[in-house]
Amino acid sequence: MASPVPTNVVDVGKELVIVWDDGREDYLPLEKLRRECPCAMCRGERDLLGKVYRGPNRPLTERSFQLVSHRPVGAYALQIRWADGHDDGIYSYETLRRIGDETR
Ligand SMILES: [Zn+2]
Repeated sequence: MASPVPTNVVDVGKELVIVWDDGREDYLPLEKLRRECPCAMCRGERDLLGKVYRGPNRPLTERSFQLVSHRPVGAYALQIRWADGHDDGIYSYETLRRIGDETR
């Protein structure tokens, strides 16, 4: 069976609700979602020895956890734009399912 894809994504304020085509529903807290931002700046980049270099350490504020918009990227991910202007995070559906697992 193909990997599940969202049939509906709704921002309900403090959570992002994702309805999957296999019938599952996830309620992802926005704060957790932002803290799990998969972009290189938030995750840090690794050098050849595996040492992690963090990007500019911008403190997260209340606005960092407010979702402005979301849109599908290709057939595999969701791009989320936050109220502090950050929109580098491309959340693969696999990542969203993992966050959903951790939220249960
Ligand atoms: Zn990020």
